[in-house]
Amino acid sequence: EERRLLTAIAERLGKILERHQVQEQLNQHREELARVSRLSTMGEMASSLAHELNQPLAAVANYVRGCQRRLTSGAWNQDDLVQALAEAGNQAERAGQILGALRDFVAKREPRRVPADINKIAETAVDLATTEARVRGIAVRFAPAQGLPLVLADAVQIEQVVLNIVRNALEAMSKTCSNGGEVVVGTAAGKPGEVEIAISDSGPGLPADATEKVFDTFYTTKPEGMGIGLSISRSIIEAHRGRLWVTSNDDRGATFRFTLQTCHGDHGHAV
Ligand code: ADP
Repeated sequence: EERRLLTAIAERLGKILERHQVQEQLNQHREELARVSRLSTMGEMASSLAHELNQPLAAVANYVRGCQRRLTSGAWNQDDLVQALAEAGNQAERAGQILGALRDFVAKREPRRVPADINKIAETAVDLATTEARVRGIAVRFAPAQGLPLVLADAVQIEQVVLNIVRNALEAMSKTCSNGGEVVVGTAAGKPGEVEIAISDSGPGLPADATEKVFDTFYTTKPEGMGIGLSISRSIIEAHRGRLWVTSNDDRGATFRFTLQTCHGDHGHAV
């Protein structure tokens, strides 16, 4: 009896998420897109939306299907199901946050920069990338510096930047490394008034003439690529008055770095 109830709930949840919530958000977003004409092309925005939303939506579908499968087979325990449904909820919320961040980006509104802990932001992005990394057999290591000052940041936007760079790294490494390898996300004190975030991989790296090109809109070397992830990332960082660039590692792979301003740097003297 309990099982049947839970199956029904999982089924309903799946449908609600798929049809109602997500669909409605997409519709809302489409309406907004129609109104906003600042971004160069609608296609550009639509592509970026698809790119960024794909991950959390696929995760929601997976969790819900997983629940359904376990309930149907009869082999389930309550903790697992509660955990999976909670995760589905988190990912659905994540999709909503991304839409919000993209909406702000389309509107070219100044990012809402508030004092934030860069290590928390970076760790959230690392957590979000963990599942995809595990599937690819690659580790994502978080290497935070301690005692960093607060930065001025729109946390969700910066999470998106880190996540996008980490995902690129995972994709690049999947092509060359049959197994193993790691992506390191580190934070460090940069120049005075700045902190620096570095994401380095041990993939194939970049040709010397590509270190600027990769930030061009529509530059991609992937068959299914959109070539907008890094150009959006750079816009976001520049709107934060930071810099984003990439260098080749001495041994192999590439390191993407960006800076953010500290609260101190922005306001003159700390209180
Ligand atoms: P997309 O991922 O859709 O191609 P991006 O703007 O995110 O768009 O990336 C542009 C290009 O930059 C990629 O197609 C790839 O050629 C290159 N690139 C990005 N990150 C890396 C990396 N970590 N290692 C090697 N090449 C990379």
